[in-house]
Amino acid sequence: MKIFSQELGVAATNTYLFFEEDLGKAVVFDAPEGAFDFVQQVREEPPFELEALYLTHGHYDHILDAWKFAEAGVPVYGHRDDQALFEEEAVQKPFLFGDMDLRSVKIDHWLAVGEPLEILGHSVDVRHVCGHCPGNVLFHFAELKLAIVGDAIFSGSVGRVDLPGGDWAVLENSIRTQIYTLPDETQLLSGHGPVTSVQKEKATNPFVSG
Ligand SMILES: [Zn+2]
Repeated sequence: MKIFSQELGVAATNTYLFFEEDLGKAVVFDAPEGAFDFVQQVREEPPFELEALYLTHGHYDHILDAWKFAEAGVPVYGHRDDQALFEEEAVQKPFLFGDMDLRSVKIDHWLAVGEPLEILGHSVDVRHVCGHCPGNVLFHFAELKLAIVGDAIFSGSVGRVDLPGGDWAVLENSIRTQIYTLPDETQLLSGHGPVTSVQKEKATNPFVSG
């Protein structure tokens, strides 16, 4: 698996492109502003089929480009607890600034937590990590020893809980039960900032100790 990542948009949000050469297929996790163009650039060499867009949650800085993927026929996945954030653009209008062009995106497939999901030939465990917002999920690729975690946890920090639907007690519990229970060596690919690991956060995260 080849993994490309890029920080994009006003909130420096990470987009991740997973490309499985043997299959000639790729998927994208999160769609900040500029993600669609980023994927097109990577796609020039080598070419691949874009199979899906997975959204870790519905905050605007993770979905600004999602409508472009949907318009290009790429199936979009998300968790139902963020349905209003994904599908009703008015909900997040008060939080936008500058010339942000937020358009609602219709989710084609609601992610089922606990049901096995296959992505690019890898079995993936989808976990619900709410607290930052109602519908944040993580995607755990056990064989690859990594997880895409959205805004639940960052290197040395945790997701903010002051936006609608945020709740600190819920987030802390989610981190302990859904993230700190992953194998220690699991690399955590967050929505913002550098890659970290379960082991490192358990040992040094100042907000939730392991
Ligand atoms: Zn967020």
